[in-house]
Amino acid sequence: MVKIIYSIGSKKGKIVLKCEDCGEIRETQRNTAILEKEEHPCRACSNKRNGKNKIGKPSWNSGHRKPQDERQLGSIYQNHHGYYEIYLAGDSVKYGRKDGYVLMHRKVVQDNIERPLGEKELIHHIDGNKLNNDLSNLFLCSSMSHHRDIHNSLEEVAFQLYHLGLITFDHENQSYKLAPSVSNDRVDACEFRKRLRPIKGYDNPEPSLN
Ligand SMILES: [Zn+2]
Ligand SMILES: [Zn+2]
Repeated sequence: MVKIIYSIGSKKGKIVLKCEDCGEIRETQRNTAILEKEEHPCRACSNKRNGKNKIGKPSWNSGHRKPQDERQLGSIYQNHHGYYEIYLAGDSVKYGRKDGYVLMHRKVVQDNIERPLGEKELIHHIDGNKLNNDLSNLFLCSSMSHHRDIHNSLEEVAFQLYHLGLITFDHENQSYKLAPSVSNDRVDACEFRKRLRPIKGYDNPEPSLN
């Protein structure tokens, strides 16, 4: 029996699943195959389970997560979605995780509001940098649609910046970019983009969830 976390009201046929291994929440199309599955790990964790990533690739957590006997309480590593996780051993249960690890941004917010986060609640990284877990950079969203609204508002502002000439459209690369006048002297855009890019070799099923 599949555990459906919740249905998206406005999007018929969509359900939200939680990866048993890493706790990542994702939105997906409801279908019989999913409903018949006992567990529903995300693609990265599923590959890990099947050993697919062993074919010519280092393990997703190589260089990050240490073997069980070398784990140190409070040690931090970057997971395959590009987020920091902290090893808390048995204390991870307080944060809704049974495997000893907790997403840093969820821990920071939960410690601040002094209550466990709900299943639907998720954290938005205000500056777009998923590694900046300063409390001032974290915004608690009540649901995925709340989170989506926030990202939509960012897009709205981006269009305003386009009209102000601060953003241009690059036909060759088929993407928007900062106008040269902005990128040259104000922001190191390349540095910023580097931080947003998922770890090489892995799919990031939720690129907007930062
Ligand atoms: Zn996962
Ligand atoms: Zn976000």
